[in-house]
Amino acid sequence: MMRAKALRQATFALVSISLAAFVFEPVSAKTLPSERAARALHERILTLDSHLDTPAVVARPGFDILKHNEWRTAFAQVDVPRMKEGGLDGGFWVIYTAQGPRTPEGLNAARDAGLMRAVVIREMLARSPKYFGLALKADDAAKIAAEGKRVVFMSIENSYPLAKDVSLLQTYYKLGVRLVGPVHFANNDWADSSTDKPEWGGLSPLGKELVAEANRLGMVLDQSHASDQVLDQMLELSTAPIIASHSGCKAIYDHPRNLDDDRLKALAAKGGVIQMNAFGAYLKALPQTPERRAALAKLAATYPNLASRSQADQDAFRQARARLDVEFPENRATFDDFMAHLLHAIKLIGVDHVGIGLDWDGGGGVVGLEDASKVWKITQALMAEGYSEADIAKIWGGNVLRVMREAEAKAQK
Ligand SMILES: [Zn+2]
Repeated sequence: MMRAKALRQATFALVSISLAAFVFEPVSAKTLPSERAARALHERILTLDSHLDTPAVVARPGFDILKHNEWRTAFAQVDVPRMKEGGLDGGFWVIYTAQGPRTPEGLNAARDAGLMRAVVIREMLARSPKYFGLALKADDAAKIAAEGKRVVFMSIENSYPLAKDVSLLQTYYKLGVRLVGPVHFANNDWADSSTDKPEWGGLSPLGKELVAEANRLGMVLDQSHASDQVLDQMLELSTAPIIASHSGCKAIYDHPRNLDDDRLKALAAKGGVIQMNAFGAYLKALPQTPERRAALAKLAATYPNLASRSQADQDAFRQARARLDVEFPENRATFDDFMAHLLHAIKLIGVDHVGIGLDWDGGGGVVGLEDASKVWKITQALMAEGYSEADIAKIWGGNVLRVMREAEAKAQK
């Protein structure tokens, strides 16, 4: 009797686990192909990251993207030397605007901030044409990479700077933007955020206009940060496939920023792609010590309005922050945690619907995958799982470019 009951419980536990998530041996426990073999394959394929928050760092006084910076002290994860070292050809460089008040003053300030961040990206391109190339169409990426330059697609994270004017999306299109996400951490006039209370029940009426306008222009829509209802509605309304540029899997870690299995399947059924992020707090629960939290709060209070302070203040803040990280170490996610999300998505919806969007310079990065110089390790881990070069090439950029091509084809001429 006891044995039968124990067996039933064990079977139930197994079924529960398999319903929740595929179970993988951690990458760290696997026999990996040699670094040389992994790098050789990695160098042959086009590698794009769909969410580089690096323009926020480029905008920092004194930052040099042509120089090798240290992530621990400079709090910068992407620059040309490290992209070359890790084998990252480029990606989507983000115009990110923090959500602020939805007042006329707030909207005006956001509109200016968004346009100025686009200028930062265009200035980076103009200043270093030997190192960067602006990609306006999917087919541009391979050509730019073949010239040995870094690929720069432009994207919008948070449509707050459109200032409730859908026609501004065309202005951004003309500036080079090809990917747009409606919302960030808090609800705005376009859509509900996954990390806020429902206000519109998904997209607002204006948000639905945004979907139609993006389709008309041939811009790809990005669901990351938006609520589950926004995803459902985008899938219903959009004539082109959509992506989640930096997200994770709810089956691995139940966080509002992550997508459940049914939604991942719905995204794939419409030809879309989830681009896996490496943002620790979305990968697993990471309780921090009260001492670290208190030290961070104290440091933030010492340097209020950091972004508008002098370069000396910003440097001093970063030095203090680096010391704090040594004194009160952060509880961080690992490369195994990241790979668990990536492999779950691939197992669930296939190699045609999963990609890479690590959220560099936006909070991404885990132990073992700290900056752009390490990205070849993802290829090594995928090889260890038995994926082919063709599969890995899709994951590293082929899929997101396919979605772009479909959006381009559907655009009204
Ligand atoms: Zn983000």
